[in-house]
Amino acid sequence: MQNQKRPRGFSTRAIHEGYDPQDYHGALNPPVFLTSTFAFDSVETGAARFAGTEPGYIYSRVGNPTATVLESRLAALEEGEAALASSSGMGAITAVIWTLLKAGDAIVADKTLYGCTFALLQHQLERFGIVTRFADLTRPEELRAALCPQTRLVFTETPSNPNMRVIDIEATADICRKAGVLLAVDNTYCTPYLQRPIALGADIVLHSATKYLGGHGDLLAGAIVARKELIDQFRFTGIKELNGACISAMDAFLILRGLKTLSLRMDRHCETALKLARDLEAHPAVESVFYPGLDSHPQKELAARQMRGFGGMIGMELKGGLPAGRAFMNAVELATLAVSLGDAETLVQHPASMTHATYTPEERAQHGFTDGLVRLSVGLEDYEDIHADLIQALGRVSG
Ligand SMILES: *Cc1c(COP(=O)(O)O)cnc(C)c1O
Repeated sequence: MQNQKRPRGFSTRAIHEGYDPQDYHGALNPPVFLTSTFAFDSVETGAARFAGTEPGYIYSRVGNPTATVLESRLAALEEGEAALASSSGMGAITAVIWTLLKAGDAIVADKTLYGCTFALLQHQLERFGIVTRFADLTRPEELRAALCPQTRLVFTETPSNPNMRVIDIEATADICRKAGVLLAVDNTYCTPYLQRPIALGADIVLHSATKYLGGHGDLLAGAIVARKELIDQFRFTGIKELNGACISAMDAFLILRGLKTLSLRMDRHCETALKLARDLEAHPAVESVFYPGLDSHPQKELAARQMRGFGGMIGMELKGGLPAGRAFMNAVELATLAVSLGDAETLVQHPASMTHATYTPEERAQHGFTDGLVRLSVGLEDYEDIHADLIQALGRVSG
């Protein structure tokens, strides 16, 4: 008991936080509460739960005990006050935006975003009277210039999907705080193991738990971490009334299972990706490699300061541009040609025609990534095998 005051480490929290087996017959793993609704012992209890004057579950769109374990765990890992799990990353992002903004409000977003987030901000929100200004958030002066009295939210990813630009969270949070604007960071690429935006001053952290948090490519889910007051709004307005994107208990359970190995998996993703990024950069068929751990990355120092490791995602441009990229992707044998990321399997995809086809060619050029860019999600297979596969595929491109 002497050590009780010492905060538990990341891996320990990822395995234990928010669950005590003694609460459930000693079951090592949390039960999966496959129930839509919860019985009240009296009309008065039901009314008190609805009024929020008595704790307890009502209906699984608003809360479920398996989801609660996951939410406590994610809040602890992200060092936030509270968390809310959702049915997908897009469910989390729309819950935040629809809760916080109304017609006439504005968003400032970094110029490179996950394709569906971009489509939401650029094409969909306009119909509801919400305008997004895109700016290069690697340049603080561009952020300051883009802010206006109507701005409610600044939205960024870092590293950005798919070209791995790195945004300084602390500097961005500073500008947002002075302007009285909330900062939301999509932390999908890093997970809390590599980067904790709230500790750096961000207000809201978003996740596609479909990716590294789940880690096994067998589910779709999302999460939001923020102050309790905000999470209550996202839960009772965003998910309950606006988008209904609640998580299923089974998916919450699977993410809890995935989280137990998150630190091990991330260490391995980072280690293999750094080696591969260096190999690819040295290959004669490769024009450039985008990976924050490379000396050639313009923000390597910032990435090293802000992230525990450089992550498992690599962007690559081949010398032969788009045709070469296509030939490469068709030539891989071990790697799988598929979108998504963060799985045990190495995945290869083509942003311009797949995840980022929501951008027009002009928008892609303007937002800083080329049609020739190939995106790799480095998996957990042996480095030697991934290396051999990528090199043989590159050989077939140039040969
Ligand atoms: C996949 C992804 C999303 C969307 O998440 P879904 O779970 O697919 O809805 C959002 N942001 C990033 C960075 C992603 O990679």
